[in-house]
Amino acid sequence: MAEYDYDLFTIGAGSGGVRASRIAASYGAKVAVAEEYRFGGTCVIRGCVPKKMLVYASIFAEQLSHATTKGWTIGDAIFDWATLRDFVNSDVDRLEGLYGDTLGNAGVERFNERAVFTGPNSVKLASGREISARYVLVATGSWPVMPEFPGNDLCITSNEIFHLPQQPKRLVVMGGGYIAVEFAGIFNALGSKVTLVNRSETILRTYEQGVVERLPPIMQARGMDLQMNAQITKVEKADEGSLVVSLSNGARIDADQVLIATGRSANTAGLGLEAAGISLGHNGAIPVNAYSKTSCDSIYAVGDVTDRVQLTPVAIREGHAVADTLFGDNPRHVDHSMIASAVFSQPSIAAVGLTEEQARREFDDVKIYTSDFRPMGNIFSPRMERGFYKMVVDGDSDRVLGIHMIGPDSAEIIQAAAVAVKAGLTKADFDATVAIHPTMAEELVLLK
Ligand code: NDP
Repeated sequence: MAEYDYDLFTIGAGSGGVRASRIAASYGAKVAVAEEYRFGGTCVIRGCVPKKMLVYASIFAEQLSHATTKGWTIGDAIFDWATLRDFVNSDVDRLEGLYGDTLGNAGVERFNERAVFTGPNSVKLASGREISARYVLVATGSWPVMPEFPGNDLCITSNEIFHLPQQPKRLVVMGGGYIAVEFAGIFNALGSKVTLVNRSETILRTYEQGVVERLPPIMQARGMDLQMNAQITKVEKADEGSLVVSLSNGARIDADQVLIATGRSANTAGLGLEAAGISLGHNGAIPVNAYSKTSCDSIYAVGDVTDRVQLTPVAIREGHAVADTLFGDNPRHVDHSMIASAVFSQPSIAAVGLTEEQARREFDDVKIYTSDFRPMGNIFSPRMERGFYKMVVDGDSDRVLGIHMIGPDSAEIIQAAAVAVKAGLTKADFDATVAIHPTMAEELVLLK
């Protein structure tokens, strides 16, 4: 008789959990995964994927608005939220099926129910079944934080926004991070009246502020109301079924929906980690070492639940590394440096490496190169928005330390540039690369 029911038991079938389970099974391990909601996790079910589909739809609205300068006469263009919502959700259903198939094809056993720890090597399923495992991997992700204020139960989070019965005519968004800025842009382009409420003057705090500062004026020019240095103090139901949002600056705003996007915290509540002797860290996150091992030798954790870098591709890498380490005879950990990222705002913002401020703290001689340009595609729009790229370089070695950009397709462009930055290439290497003209990306090899 085997000592344990499984070699690996994974809790949570999101990006990190699915990758770890599939790779572990490919090494011959006996693997099972428990998922209390839907296979695919936040990214696939109610995050990156459906969000990006909404971004595509909203960029189309923006293009429609200046179709005439491209010679197109469009009749009465009507947007129907329900059609878009249902299309997006049907694609999410398709992807969920694929995630389940991937696990099934890999020989991973699936339990569509909640699992909680009963000890370092044991979990209990919601159905009551007790399961033992040599290793348990926690990949339960994160959950939106809901600040305390009267009427917060009338508000929604990014969990609910993909299922709204109607498009809100008036949307108030609280926060100035990824989710707030992205959904403000989506619903504004789709025709909602959007008000963004941010507690400070700064949005997207972790990004290069010399680039980020270009975004608020564009958001305002596109019709959004930005309430900076303000907090929501109260949300109340109004007589006609809409909401009234009170702000700390005295403003009162009528709204149909209020989206709270004030960060996400580790999904560890009620997991029973104390039964395995694990104490939680900041915001309920599970502390792990470089190999994603917790303080308990048999328990590992990857992805948002560890609150290292809350990004899907990072969780996938961490999950893969755990499987390689435990079952592939290849102990390895993930390099968390130089991770490229993007905000699908409108226009998008993307970055890799150090901001100017970070570089100046670490290096004596920092050189900055910029390009402030008008992307050719923007000439069709009366707003003629500009793009801005910024490169941070170590003056001593000429190595590129960071690239930051705002403009159309920034995420697509930074992914390629990130290879060069990660590889430690120099400004001279960028300059030696011949431009493709006319593109936006060519600015990267023409920076002055
Ligand atoms: P973020 O951490 O990006 O931003 C949180 C925002 O909420 C900040 O502006 C913060 O302000 C503000 N805030 C926090 N607490 C309060 C409070 N009590 N009252 C008022 N404002 C508050 O979180 P998000 O929820 O936007 O996204 C969660 C995570 O999901 C992100 O960190 C990111 O890792 C991931 N994500 C990634 C995306 C992508 O890659 N494109 C897209 C969406 C999400 P302050 O700056 O002052 O602290």
